[in-house]
Amino acid sequence: MDWDLVVVGGGAAGIFAAISAKEACQEAKVLVLEKSISLLTKVRISGGGRCNVTHALFDPKLLVQNYPRGSKELLGPLYHFGPKDTVEWFEKRGVSLKIEKDGRIFPVSDKSASIIDALLGEADKLDVVIQTKKAVETAVKEEEGFLITLKDGTTYRSRSLLLATGSGSDGHRLAESFGHTIQPLVPSLFTFNVPTSPLKELSGISLPRVTVGIENSNLQESGPILITHFGFTGPVILRLSAFGAPLLAERAYRTMIWIQWVLFPEEEIFKELSKAKQEMPNKLFSSVLLFPMPKNLWKALLGASGEKNMRDLSTKELREISKKLFRDRYQVDGKTTHKEEFVTAGGVSLKEVDFKTMESKKVKGLFFAGEVLDIDGVTGGFNFQNAWTDGFIVGRRVGAVAHEAHHPG
Ligand SMILES: Cc1cc2nc3c(=O)[nH]c(=O)nc-3n(C[C@H](O)[C@H](O)[C@H](O)COP(=O)(O)OP(=O)(O)OC[C@H]3O[C@@H](n4cnc5c(N)ncnc54)[C@H](O)[C@@H]3O)c2cc1C
Repeated sequence: MDWDLVVVGGGAAGIFAAISAKEACQEAKVLVLEKSISLLTKVRISGGGRCNVTHALFDPKLLVQNYPRGSKELLGPLYHFGPKDTVEWFEKRGVSLKIEKDGRIFPVSDKSASIIDALLGEADKLDVVIQTKKAVETAVKEEEGFLITLKDGTTYRSRSLLLATGSGSDGHRLAESFGHTIQPLVPSLFTFNVPTSPLKELSGISLPRVTVGIENSNLQESGPILITHFGFTGPVILRLSAFGAPLLAERAYRTMIWIQWVLFPEEEIFKELSKAKQEMPNKLFSSVLLFPMPKNLWKALLGASGEKNMRDLSTKELREISKKLFRDRYQVDGKTTHKEEFVTAGGVSLKEVDFKTMESKKVKGLFFAGEVLDIDGVTGGFNFQNAWTDGFIVGRRVGAVAHEAHHPG
């Protein structure tokens, strides 16, 4: 056999799997085939060029809550290689990491090149063979191993095959050729366009915690929001876009959402407003900031009622304002790509993969890792963690198989 492992795709998952296979079995012959001219392209551009390499949630049970798809399946693998292992792996190879206030972990250098250099340096040290400008066209199972053919006709034979092709169509086509099912692909991690939003002129204003929900669904999330000139963004919106990715695609990104600006029940908000009316009858409503939020947002939410003195506010008006602070409705019409991080939901069906090894349940020796699978995380380093975790599990398994092959009996 020419190779113990051929990896299709030189991204985070593929390179990490190749390294892990060599770490598990030094003698394993490992080849990475990458179709473009460069390796780890997404690592380079990720996190605005800083690479948010993982997230400081070290309990797998808490960590998996950040995967709209794949949370159940990833739980086991994360006990074998989780964020703590990621941090240790990079620090052992000389990359100091830092945890930011929101839990995201970056290299201290703030440069994704530190991560790339560590990965490629390790691959080189371990004699992983990497070839660029090699687009895999077909792969077929033979009696023993796989026959892999490039677009230019070159062939390779390998005991094991890893598809780590990311969200592109090639990997899904190859997986389908082995009888795998592909869950529909839709974008995840995007911001909401609200062309009719009266708040657009408050662009740049943020709130540390609101709740946002999608109407006619059970989907709602809480967290920071940012008002922009096109609508809304911020962690709460990105999270909602991830958990709601299939539903939002089905609705062609046209849907009503609601925002709860004040995190009290509606009746309590009404009581606060009524109390303020009694205690400060001569005050201008907009000048009485009753809840923690920027003054200009408060003023915008009150509208014409804000121009009145408190004593002139009718009960009906107070009810309307309570309603607005509790369930403020906006028409979303379209989405915008969040440039710092985006992923594709959908991919190889998880039911068809054994998560103890990342091996196909349909074809022995065929493995999957990273975004080619129907796994995606919210923004914050969870997507790379999936790539490192899957890659590690594949590498460990392939290394064990290679060890047996090189030391029979
Ligand atoms: C702008 C941006 C920023 C991001 N920032 C972050 C972040 O900060 N933190 C985070 O956790 N996630 C981030 N992500 C998501 C993260 O980059 C991906 O989830 C991750 O890169 C997936 O890794 P992968 O190895 O599975 O796929 P990829 O990185 O997409 O790698 C797949 C590779 O396979 C190659 N390939 C495809 N078909 C073939 C073929 N037929 N033959 C040979 N090679 C092939 C492709 O060229 C590619 O190099 C970001 C994504 C984007 C787009």
